[in-house]
Amino acid sequence: MSDEPTRVGEMITQRPRGPLGHVCEHEGCGKDAGWGFAKPKRSSHWFCYEHRGDGEAYL
Ligand SMILES: [Zn+2]
Repeated sequence: MSDEPTRVGEMITQRPRGPLGHVCEHEGCGKDAGWGFAKPKRSSHWFCYEHRGDGEAYL
């Protein structure tokens, strides 16, 4: 068996867009989405500060 130590720092060089990797779903927006909306057992929908009102439709 190989005994190599785990290399740290190679997997965090690339980050998806957005602080959590989410982009606003509002048509034509595409900004970083900081607000997530989801019902239990449903996939979540993400919106930016401006369009977070759109997300309430998913709740
Ligand atoms: Zn937006």
